[in-house]
Amino acid sequence: MKIIDLQACVVGRPEPNSGGTVWTFVRVYTDEGIVGTGECNSAGAEGSGFAVKEAIRALRPLLLGQNPLNVCPLYEMMRRSHIYGGTTSAPIIFAVTGIENALYDIAGKALGVPTYQLLGGKFRQKIRLYADCHAGDSNEPQAYADKALEVSAAGFSAVKFDVDRTGIGKLDPYNWTVGAKEMTHILSLVQAVREAIGYEVDLAIDCHGQFDLPSAITLARELEPLRLLWLEDPVPFENVDALAQVRASTSTVICTGENHYTRFQFLDLLRAKAVDVIMPDLAKAGGIMEGKRIAELADAHYIPFAPHNVSSPLGMMAACHVCSSVAHSSVLELHARDVTWWSDLCDGD
Ligand code: MG
Repeated sequence: MKIIDLQACVVGRPEPNSGGTVWTFVRVYTDEGIVGTGECNSAGAEGSGFAVKEAIRALRPLLLGQNPLNVCPLYEMMRRSHIYGGTTSAPIIFAVTGIENALYDIAGKALGVPTYQLLGGKFRQKIRLYADCHAGDSNEPQAYADKALEVSAAGFSAVKFDVDRTGIGKLDPYNWTVGAKEMTHILSLVQAVREAIGYEVDLAIDCHGQFDLPSAITLARELEPLRLLWLEDPVPFENVDALAQVRASTSTVICTGENHYTRFQFLDLLRAKAVDVIMPDLAKAGGIMEGKRIAELADAHYIPFAPHNVSSPLGMMAACHVCSSVAHSSVLELHARDVTWWSDLCDGD
């Protein structure tokens, strides 16, 4: 079998609180008529997906004439050949991810097996999801509590809320120190959610890397009694040592990973003892097998695997295949509860 063509497109429309509903798709065509479809992240806001699309096109000449079943060699060829173009960062690694996903689709169809079988089989039949939640325009604790109750009543056993950019007590958008008023408000939000859902439902809190080191440490320590599933990105993503200082200062579980790519960056995180939970975004980090490699690295450190996910139903199913094949998979994100047209894209619940 040979690859005869490769196409890419950007699909979707922006939705508030959706975490990204502009998705990039890759389609790989073969001389035997089997077609593989993959997805990758569009690299942020509307429009920037076109940079990823162009990166996919740039990789096309490498793939024409190749055997699509050689997924790992093709992945390494793409990654290594564009190393000076930035294969450890967007948009190149996103493009490689989308193509790799499409190659697994071809391999599964050609061999007549689901992708999880190609990854060594499944540990579980169902993937536990957590719901990313937004309390609408309100920044009041009651709105957060009401949303948490609504989502948990819908059947989710874990929820996540954002606590950056609440607009309460923030004096300077470029200074990441959390003052007393803002800190008090943030704590009231998390407390309100915990009181609403009790300890039956797991609760994660996302800071989006918007706080400085002393503020992050204060927040993490104050949240200790609330037994979070995790505190996500309490400091910016770039400085692994700073995150390690947060982790060393608190018993609150620290999580990062949605802006780290490939096994090499996750190895840095694990060596630095900077995380308690990793959350690679499997539509960004390198692909299905790279996600499995990242998970196995974490497993060797007894660190749970809880992928970040803002993909379409297609990319989300790719993530489910990885999660099913990983022993220590914890939860997978669902970021689309507020996307009204999500159910138009797929059958079932
Ligand atoms: Mg996040």
